[in-house]
Amino acid sequence: MAEIIDGKKIAAEIRGRIKEEARRLTAQGRQPGLAAVLVGDNPASVIYVRNKRKACEEAGIYSEEHKLPEATKQDDLLKLIHRLNNDPKIHGILIQLPLPKHVDADRVLYAVSPKKDVDGLHPNNIGQLTMGAPVFVPCTPAGVMAMLDYHKIPIEGQRAVIVGRSNLVGRPVSLLLMHRNATITVCHSRTQDIAAICREGDILVAAIGKARFVTAEMVKPGAVVIDVGINRLPDGKLVGDVDYEPVSRKAGWITPVPGGVGPMTIAMLLKNTLESAKRT
Ligand code: NAP
Repeated sequence: MAEIIDGKKIAAEIRGRIKEEARRLTAQGRQPGLAAVLVGDNPASVIYVRNKRKACEEAGIYSEEHKLPEATKQDDLLKLIHRLNNDPKIHGILIQLPLPKHVDADRVLYAVSPKKDVDGLHPNNIGQLTMGAPVFVPCTPAGVMAMLDYHKIPIEGQRAVIVGRSNLVGRPVSLLLMHRNATITVCHSRTQDIAAICREGDILVAAIGKARFVTAEMVKPGAVVIDVGINRLPDGKLVGDVDYEPVSRKAGWITPVPGGVGPMTIAMLLKNTLESAKRT
C-alpha cells in the first residue's frame, strides 16, 4: 500500500512558517500584499479566489479582490493591472484563469510586472525558469517539488514521466524535475502507447484534467504518483487524474485528491507573495 503524501499537512506547516515571516515584515511596515483579479463568475474560479484570500488572511498577508464583470473590456483590465503594478501595498498580482474568450489572456499575463508575477506566468519568469534560475516558480509545480522534498524522495537519476504539457503545470514541472537531474519524458494528447511510457516512471505526474485517467496498469510498482488533476464527477465528487484506490495498492507514494497538490498550490502562492515583499 502506498504511503500518502499529505498535501494538506505539509501546506499547513509551510503556511505556519510564512505567517511568522509575514508578521516580522509587517512589524517593519512591509506587510506582504496580494491582489486577486477575477473576471466573470466562473463558479470554480470564485471558490479558488475565495480560498486563496482566506489563506492570505490566516497568514497575515493583506489581500484585495478585483471582481470584474464578464464583459470587461481588455483595455480596462490592462489599466487595472497597470495600477496594481504601481501600488506599493501589492507585492503579488494573481490573474485568475480562465479569462473570458474576448480577452487575450497572453497580453493580460504579460502586462503583469514580472516583479509581482507570483504565478510565474510572465515570459521573463518562464525564461528564467527554463534557464534554471527562477524568480517565481509557478505555484502548482512548486508545490509538487515541495511535496517530493518534504519526504526526501530521490529525484536525481530517476525516470520521471509527466502526463500533460500545459504552461501552467506539465511544462514547468518537467523543467523543475530536469533541473534536479531526473530524466524526463513528457506525454500529451498525441503520445502513442502512453501506458507503456507511464510504466517506466519512477516518478509519475498526472496533469491532464481527465478523471481517473491513470490506471493501476499504467503505474510501475513502487512509483511515486503525483496527481495534479481536479475533476468533478456528475455526482459532485472531486477526483484526480489518477484512479486512486487501485493505484495506491501498487504505488510507493501517492497524493490524494482533494488534500494533495491543491493545498500546496495555495501555500506556494503565499510563499511567492512573501518572497516578493522581502525583495522590496
Ligand atoms: P490543460 O491546460 O487542459 O492541459 C492538459 C494537458 O493534458 C495538455 O497538455 C493535453 O495535451 C494533455 N492531455 C489531455 N488529454 C490527454 C490524453 N487523453 N492523453 C494524454 N494527454 C492528454 O490543463 P492544466 O491547466 O495543465 O490542468 C491539468 C489538470 O490539473 C486539471 O484537472 C486542472 O484542474 C488541474 N490543476 C490543478 C491544480 C491544483 O492546484 N491542484 C492547479 C492547476 C491545474 P495537449 O497539449 O496535446 O492538448
